[in-house]
Amino acid sequence: MKIKILPPEVYNRIAAGEVVDRPYSVVKELVENAVDAGATEISVEIEQGGKKRIRVTDNGSGIARDDLQSAFLPHATSKLETEADLMGVRTLGFRGEAIASIASVSRMSILSKPHGAEACRLCSEGGTMGQVEPAAGTDGTVVTVEDLFYNTPARLKFLKSDAQEEGDVTAMMARFLLSRPEISFTYYANGKEKYRSYGDGLSAALVAVYGAEILANLHEIDADKHGIRLRGFIGNRNFSKPNRTYQSLFVNGRYVVNQTVSAAVSNAYGAYLMKRQYPFYVLFLDVPPEIVDVNVHPNKADVRFADNQVIYGSVYSIVSSVLDGNSRALEYLVKLPESPAAEAVPSPKAPPATDPAPARDAQMTYAEAKRELQFAIPVHAGKTSRPARGYDETPAALSVHAPAPAKEDAFEENKKLLLERDAARQTRVETASLVYKGELFRTYLFYECGDDAYIVDQHAAHERILYDKLRESMQTRGVLSQSMLVPYVLTVNAQEFAFLSKNLGLLTEMGFDVCEFGDNAFKVSAVPADLMGMDLPSFFAEILSGLESLRAIKLADIVKDKLASAACKAAVKGGEQLSEQEVLSLLARMNGDMGLKCPHGRPVAVHVKRSEMEKLFKRIV
Ligand code: ADP
Ligand code: MG
Repeated sequence: MKIKILPPEVYNRIAAGEVVDRPYSVVKELVENAVDAGATEISVEIEQGGKKRIRVTDNGSGIARDDLQSAFLPHATSKLETEADLMGVRTLGFRGEAIASIASVSRMSILSKPHGAEACRLCSEGGTMGQVEPAAGTDGTVVTVEDLFYNTPARLKFLKSDAQEEGDVTAMMARFLLSRPEISFTYYANGKEKYRSYGDGLSAALVAVYGAEILANLHEIDADKHGIRLRGFIGNRNFSKPNRTYQSLFVNGRYVVNQTVSAAVSNAYGAYLMKRQYPFYVLFLDVPPEIVDVNVHPNKADVRFADNQVIYGSVYSIVSSVLDGNSRALEYLVKLPESPAAEAVPSPKAPPATDPAPARDAQMTYAEAKRELQFAIPVHAGKTSRPARGYDETPAALSVHAPAPAKEDAFEENKKLLLERDAARQTRVETASLVYKGELFRTYLFYECGDDAYIVDQHAAHERILYDKLRESMQTRGVLSQSMLVPYVLTVNAQEFAFLSKNLGLLTEMGFDVCEFGDNAFKVSAVPADLMGMDLPSFFAEILSGLESLRAIKLADIVKDKLASAACKAAVKGGEQLSEQEVLSLLARMNGDMGLKCPHGRPVAVHVKRSEMEKLFKRIV
């Protein structure tokens, strides 16, 4: 696309541009331009913290000879033309200001060669352009910025030491390596190689930035909830850092510091962190573009969400599930390659669209999600239970531009998109094609399907059936209770009493009939029909043992999860055997999803290939 000057009515709509005030902001703008130009290889060299020289070389689209001069003009961009384009900005830059403002305070040269055209160079000194000259070069662009602020002594004086400026450039380069793991970067400071990545994925980029040992301390997650996708790496419970510089968040591909997300992650770590320790994370949050305003902050370092509660609730519940190792954890964790259940299973047909159970989240509308999250912890850090840690940045100016009002179905559309994208990773088999072959140790059920065998853990399966039923009936309020002949009386202390009283409603929704019984006891006179015969003492012991962490969590969603998973455990401990009929009905409910987990994160089914068996018996090698 040609470089054009934006008309005033367009650039006036854009939040005031960032002042290029430091070497790192120059590097940032130049690398973003290279990324926008579709480069797959980007090299950055700085000298004396960038004060003496900054050079960014890319193999991107290049700038046509006729456009070279325009690139130096203010409000000149090839990335948008009209006001309407602002809504759908997909590039990192769009203001058309960076080159012009950097050129005005330095000696700058741009050497560029579009594919199939001649290379040209244009130099400028303090913003005064020379002539476009023929030059020699390979496809792509080399931008060199020398003697930054040589003509503005006041700003020059404002710079930090070379070492400090270099440190800031380095931190920013780390974020580029992480946010663009598909691009291969090299970064040199004073001739010394600092980073080198090869464009071969996020875990490799993490190693390039933090060293080889880092991966052993991290969980890789990939989760979607309410149409929001959260993927990346988070430190495990025992891995924390002395400051917040190990936290990177990219919202729709853009690096941001965002209060809502950082508070959600910090609170999810809550109890696992000691004083003055901070979580490590590199997270990518993909949300529908309609609900996020990237134009909110002049330096584009923050975004504003149309609905902080949904974002907070989703991030919080995903991260805390993984850290606590609770029910959904394994659905969020990226499966290890050596796990047999994780291998791709032939999926002869697309799944029918009617199964409500495993895809519960997928079915949840944005409105439902909001209702679920209505008890969400307020996003302002000071009001949460662990106020002081992790997010004492000055709150960013969030009020510059109001985001476009979220369309009700924005989350759902995003959800659909994510589901489609992930369809390839599904581990489904057609239920009808599974033939029951028998049982082992009164625990494992064997199924055959062509050259594949599936081993189902009937206890895990049973827990999963119960769990889904419970969660479903809580959703629809369609519970069946069954009265007990002899009510169960639970004696508690004051804290436990307060917690249970507050959550009586949730227990009732599940189908329990529980009421206060004096001031230190509860009387349980009915339980959900599906849980008849459950071990009530162990159920309440489980709930109350997690009291500390549950109390911090006000999300009804998560408390429900914990209640349901504790209930299932207590019921299955009660020793009920699962009939083959019941397992078949589970398979039907699973819709053949062999990747399913029990509420405590163990796999329900394991996949064994015929060839693996034949290897065991040395029939093949
Ligand atoms: P913006 O990125 O907001 O469009 P800039 O001032 O950063 O504004 O760049 C102006 C224009 O110069 C861009 O729109 C783009 O067309 C062109 N340009 C700048 N850097 C490069 C590059 N490395 N490769 C190709 N084109 C570039
Ligand atoms: Mg730019």
